Amino acid sequence: MTLLLRKIKEIRNYLRNIRCQNNSIVGFVPTMGYLHQGHIELIRRSKMQNDLTIVSIYVNPLQFGAGEDFERYPRDLERDLSICEEEGVDIVFAPLDEEMYPEKPLINIEIQGLSNILEGEFRPSHFSGVCTVVLKLFNIILPDRAYFGEKDYQQLKIVERLVKDLNIPLEIIPVPTVRDEDGLALSSRNTYLKPEERESALSLYRSFLLAEKLIKSGDRDAKLIKEAIREFIMKHPHIKKIDYVEVTDPDLRPVEEVKEGDRILLAVWVGNTRLIDNWRIGDANL
Ligand code: AMP
Repeated sequence: MTLLLRKIKEIRNYLRNIRCQNNSIVGFVPTMGYLHQGHIELIRRSKMQNDLTIVSIYVNPLQFGAGEDFERYPRDLERDLSICEEEGVDIVFAPLDEEMYPEKPLINIEIQGLSNILEGEFRPSHFSGVCTVVLKLFNIILPDRAYFGEKDYQQLKIVERLVKDLNIPLEIIPVPTVRDEDGLALSSRNTYLKPEERESALSLYRSFLLAEKLIKSGDRDAKLIKEAIREFIMKHPHIKKIDYVEVTDPDLRPVEEVKEGDRILLAVWVGNTRLIDNWRIGDANL
């Protein structure tokens, strides 16, 4: 039976008692809800590696900028709870805004050189909001392991660095991106897409395969590969604009010569929906 807790005090007390009795190892999966197979993969990893799995469901206002989709972000707690129940999640922590932010936090967390590039360039306060909520949740739950998807690769790298720099006593476990059969990376925001937009959104995944083909045929110049990706994606209808296409090493430093293990990262507007995706070079089965 999944236990739904909404108060910080409740979950702290509950976990304190459990830890006293059983010394349980706790796995934590932070989410914004509207769960899909990507989230489920994180949950399953946690179930495999820990005694207790906790999922948080909280649409964090602090990580949305003005004019972004905070209000219309999809929410369905009932549905999420039944998925968690099915997956054997022990606790769902779903706090209200007044519980998480009784007053506006004055803290501003910046990971120098990581928070302000790529996503950070287009969403300036986004990662400070992410780090704040993640730190708060870590301090509330005190997990042994926390699970983050490679779908949000920059977020993963930032949280890894946060944990390292501040000696937070837990392990971050990265989980590869889960895609639909046709290659579209699963995302709660995919629900915004009209069928014809979804078709065009496939160009993101397909551009990664194109890049892999180019690299395999000997093209190693990152500039050329980025241009080919841009050109390919822009050919599709409903693509409004590309915020960025970048090729970096695994630590998000831009590269000029592309090699296996590097990452392609991009953000693209399909109609009014902004999608992000990324790809590890060498992962395509060509
Ligand atoms: P979100 O609810 O979108 O904030 O995501 C919660 C967690 O699930 C984050 O660590 C995401 O990176 C991860 N996640 C979201 N989509 C996917 C996916 N398609 N595959 C793997 N992990 C994902």
